[in-house]
Amino acid sequence: MSENSIPENTLSEKKPKKSSDKNFNIVQVAVPTPLRRKFDYLLSDEINPQHVMPGMRVLVPFGRTKQIAVVLGLSEHTDIEIKKLRPISKILDKKPVFPATIIKLLNWVAAYYHHPIGEVYQTALPVHYRKKESAPEPGVTLWFLTEQGKNADWDLLKRAVRQRSILEQLKCSPEGLSKAQIASKQEGQWQSALKVLVEKNWLATKVQENSIKNYEADHDICRNPGLQLNAEQQVTVTALLGHDARYHASLIDGITGSGKTEVYLSFIEQQLKNTRQVLVLVPEIGLTPQLIHRFEHRFSVKIQTLHSGLNNTQRMKIWQQVSSGEVRILIGTRSAVFTPMPDLGAIIIDEEHDLSFKQQDGIRYSARDIALVRANYANIPIILGSATPSMESLYLCQTGKMSHHKLRQRAGKAKPPEVHLIDVRGQYLQHGISRILIDLIHQHLDKNNQVLLFQNRRGYSPVLLCNKCGWIGHCHRCDAKLTYHQQQNRLRCHHCQTEQSLPTQCPECGHSELSHLGIGTERVEKTIRALFPEIEVIRIDRDTTQRKGALQTMLEQARDGQKQILIGTQMLAKGHHFPNVTLVAILDIDQGLYSIDFRAPERLAQLIIQVSGRAGREEKKGQVVLQTSHPEDEILNTLLNEGYTGFAEKTLAERKEILLPPYAYQALIRAEGNKTEYYQSFLEYCFQTMSSSQQYLPAGHDVQFLGPVSAPMEKKAGKFRGQLLVQASSRKNLHNILNDLIKTIDATKAAQRVRWSIDIDPQELY
Ligand code: ADP
Ligand code: ZN
Ligand code: ZN
Repeated sequence: MSENSIPENTLSEKKPKKSSDKNFNIVQVAVPTPLRRKFDYLLSDEINPQHVMPGMRVLVPFGRTKQIAVVLGLSEHTDIEIKKLRPISKILDKKPVFPATIIKLLNWVAAYYHHPIGEVYQTALPVHYRKKESAPEPGVTLWFLTEQGKNADWDLLKRAVRQRSILEQLKCSPEGLSKAQIASKQEGQWQSALKVLVEKNWLATKVQENSIKNYEADHDICRNPGLQLNAEQQVTVTALLGHDARYHASLIDGITGSGKTEVYLSFIEQQLKNTRQVLVLVPEIGLTPQLIHRFEHRFSVKIQTLHSGLNNTQRMKIWQQVSSGEVRILIGTRSAVFTPMPDLGAIIIDEEHDLSFKQQDGIRYSARDIALVRANYANIPIILGSATPSMESLYLCQTGKMSHHKLRQRAGKAKPPEVHLIDVRGQYLQHGISRILIDLIHQHLDKNNQVLLFQNRRGYSPVLLCNKCGWIGHCHRCDAKLTYHQQQNRLRCHHCQTEQSLPTQCPECGHSELSHLGIGTERVEKTIRALFPEIEVIRIDRDTTQRKGALQTMLEQARDGQKQILIGTQMLAKGHHFPNVTLVAILDIDQGLYSIDFRAPERLAQLIIQVSGRAGREEKKGQVVLQTSHPEDEILNTLLNEGYTGFAEKTLAERKEILLPPYAYQALIRAEGNKTEYYQSFLEYCFQTMSSSQQYLPAGHDVQFLGPVSAPMEKKAGKFRGQLLVQASSRKNLHNILNDLIKTIDATKAAQRVRWSIDIDPQELY
């Protein structure tokens, strides 16, 4: 700091004079822009600083436009010359939309993910708040008669029957009526009549706040009592409730069907009794009507769900109901982690290992990790649950930062399924299905049970090949093959959505015999229908569930037994409870065995366990078979013989040995541009800069670089992509080195020619 700043400091230490109550006339805001900084504005004399609070939205001049920004703080100081500062145009809210706890959280998000702060705030705001200066106030709008309206000569409205009728109705309700109340008495074009009356100033509106400030615990929080917990569940619930109400992280490591949800419900009951709110985070497709039903069946408090299927108005409404405290349980997918909850008492993350908690574009945040930080800031307990916990969580348990609760028995009467491999080497496969499997399907169907066939690839076949010259159908915009979709009779690229019609002959040599290699769900369906013509078959994947509500309807049909053979991708793997499924087959496990990503075995093991968990959910014993050409594979055998726990122990030991996460910290810098050299020179700049700042790190704290290299799929959607992996043994060093890089990065020429991003704790290394 220069000497010049001293006078300013001394000035501020003077006691504020009465006349200058306005010391805090610099407002620091987050403006939605990719610029990585906060912006200072002036508070003009007309605005009382007492009316400006952090978390409120303000309108500010920005360049030649006006932007909606969020107040981060007020200050007496600015590093900018005062006369260069522009005043805030308008304050948009009467109350902060973000409470202090969320402001703290979002500031952490911006710093941790090295993301522009304005974009972080923008992302956390419901769309209406981002776009509309006057976002609807929480509460109900009421119409009432103005003085002018009361004194007006209503006889002038002889012809305007509707207007007259509305006035008569409102005369009896001086406190005003909501639109719904007005509608119940009016008919015909009353809405336009209402509008005319408002324009004439005979009627006006006001908002009646429906926030419940001091929420009183209802005596009957529970609609129904919970199930009688089994011993393991009881021990877990007792342990969870045994911690005091402060920050504490717990992992419920319970096999599929062990009754984890039942444990959450018992824990939540206590939170509700303590008049606290609860946030439940679930994976994208974990938010099933079944789950919601279980919550609603158990509790009589107000429950809401937040997910990607809602429109902006619905989201806005839920946000308001939750932040006013009216909603006591919020169940939502990843972005729900940002919702303000004034009485938040606990956070639960179901299926905590699930990849959908990680956002893969924009701010590449992990809702799981943010939830842990949020719980820590709010000083409340957090519970993570999974049948296949992430290595990160198991590691936290090992180090004592998370308590580990195991549920090893299936709740109720269900028994864990038997799992075995089918060695398909040298066997004749009928479009990917072995004879042994076909026989098994028959056996299970004969007993009136259901069968689930899992194939993690949609379409008919992933490769189109010319039998004569070896030509293969490639996407011209990606380094990828085109998948044949038989239903539309088109070739589609699963990476850029390019489509084309199926060629009738080879584009290279004109040969007319083209082969379909490989198996997708469409092909499985066709084969199964041919093999089991009498049987009802349903295919559930992204192609069959595009229409709104289609997935729910289909899951319904799968559950109630209308369909006997269920074929599907990931969508069928998770969380669903199909009571009558006794056989689960994974048709091609080999797809996942050989991948360059060190997390691939973990993902595969999780998938196998989760898919297997769909078998034998009730009294009937389940059977799981995996078709493979690598029956000797170590991962498969560890998993089969020692279960997920054995697999996880081995995996963690390996990662410790070769220093991979969770024993090291990673960041992945990705860049893409119109030419290979664009991303190369950008990543080279990053590498050089970080290498030179590395020398300032204390000895023994090295940072390693992998790359710059081209991405495994270098060309995607017409862009050329590369990446640079940075790994450090300490989180702090990793962040320091990235902070150094980011200071100069936006100004470099190399950055102008690429789109780039930083992925902290990357979950997929491509
Ligand atoms: P998870 O979440 O671990 O997969 P759930 O809580 O969904 O397990 O429970 C699996 C099944 O077992 C559900 O049908 C549930 O109703 C039942 N269940 C759970 N706990 C009990 C219990 N204590 N007694 C009887 N049935 C139970
Ligand atoms: Zn050819
Ligand atoms: Zn493509």
